[in-house]
Amino acid sequence: MGRQFAKPARVNAVDAVRVPAPHVEMNVQGIRIELLRKEIKNLHLRVYPPDGRVRISVPRNLPLSSVVEMIEQRIEWIHAQQLRVSGTVRKLEYLDGETHWFRGSPFRLRVIENAGCASVEITEPGTIELRTRQICSGEERRKLLETWYRGQVRLRAAPMFERWTAVLDVEFREWRVRKMSTRWGSCNVRERRIWLSLDLAKKSDECLEYVVVHELVHLLEPGHGPRFVDQMDRAISNWRDLKRKLNTLT
Ligand SMILES: [Zn+2]
Repeated sequence: MGRQFAKPARVNAVDAVRVPAPHVEMNVQGIRIELLRKEIKNLHLRVYPPDGRVRISVPRNLPLSSVVEMIEQRIEWIHAQQLRVSGTVRKLEYLDGETHWFRGSPFRLRVIENAGCASVEITEPGTIELRTRQICSGEERRKLLETWYRGQVRLRAAPMFERWTAVLDVEFREWRVRKMSTRWGSCNVRERRIWLSLDLAKKSDECLEYVVVHELVHLLEPGHGPRFVDQMDRAISNWRDLKRKLNTLT
């Protein structure tokens, strides 16, 4: 990172070309980050809607290595914020014609009210058909779709748990699908219980599988240290790509 000129008046046209932009883009663990150097004492990290853009403002003389280190310590937080801002922007109303994600692809929601019975199913490629008994509120339509999502995650993850408990030779008590706002999954090592986020319904099979394996590996290695990384490398060689995919906004 080049030195900044304190007095812009001394910068002539030729020098101006060589002056490093105060605005630098960098990539940390797959996340694009705008870096701004300013006359400030503390670091400010922000995630902006609508696309989860990340900007960090740092004191002028803070070494780049320290900046990267600080970002790395906040990666989980950044991911959580990106999910949060994308959620608030894409305010879903569960109306006919809306786009909803399922299994890594966008689907068109077809709403048929007053259908006599309530159901959710994929009736044709790219269409999720939601039938309601009567005319109902957006809240009720959301619940119907979420119940379906939950069932779909259960169906898809069950064989994955079966396969990977055998491969990793681990045992656990139970797993559940829950609404989780900031994480894709969690593992209570002591209770030997795994929770998967309901939002995984929207993600591809390989991303779901990555989360299943990640949580199961925690039964062997509770933290995210080198031994955890080593186990992940042996289980799924491209897990870093899957992790990145999981946290990109769709
Ligand atoms: Zn973890």
